[in-house]
Amino acid sequence: MRIGILGGTFDPVHRGHLHLAQEAKKKLALDKVLFVPAYLPPHKESKKREITPARLRLRMLKRALAGKRSFKITDFEVRKKRKVYTVETLRALRRRCPRDEFFLLTGADNFSILHQWKNLGTIFRLCHFVIARRPGFRKSGMGEQKKIIWLPIRPLNISSTKIRERTREGRSVARLLPPGVNGLIKKHRLYRRRNF
Ligand code: ATP
Ligand code: MG
Repeated sequence: MRIGILGGTFDPVHRGHLHLAQEAKKKLALDKVLFVPAYLPPHKESKKREITPARLRLRMLKRALAGKRSFKITDFEVRKKRKVYTVETLRALRRRCPRDEFFLLTGADNFSILHQWKNLGTIFRLCHFVIARRPGFRKSGMGEQKKIIWLPIRPLNISSTKIRERTREGRSVARLLPPGVNGLIKKHRLYRRRNF
């Protein structure tokens, strides 16, 4: 099987994530896409913003993916209750699915921080590294990484940061979110305080 792997904080999951997963599925002929929410994302440690508890981020993801049969979620990283590097997740998935082909799906904001990824060489051996267009981030700076698959998608100017900001300002975010997610944000009064 050809499996897409989409890691992230998903705080909250939004239509940009679904768009990336859908386009990758179509253009790379994937059989499924596995969403991997982080417990504590390695590159966000220093930001010190309060990250929404993992169980709530998971619930938002479950709502967002409800009824989408080729999109799955794994709580592999969340269960560890610590920072997990992508390479560790990939190794675990590889043990579980030795014959599958993995496509690590990321947005273009990862270009500039690619050198910060732990064990990048191993990551490249375990999967195809896919990078998709994202507004505000250019393709340049990618260096000579020939192993990267550049995924041309229609850029969607949506980020979790924007959603948190707009929510705090009392502005509407419904059109940026998959159905069901806004209800949870309201119910749990998420993103009301400034902590990002
Ligand atoms: P934040 O603003 O909090 O960083 P985010 O919108 O970047 O949130 P993440 O959970 O950090 O969401 O992203 C997970 C993955 O999805 C990353 O690889 C990111 O580049 C990618 N991604 C997020 N939004 C988009 C988008 N609009 N288009 C393409 N890729 C995206
Ligand atoms: Mg991000």
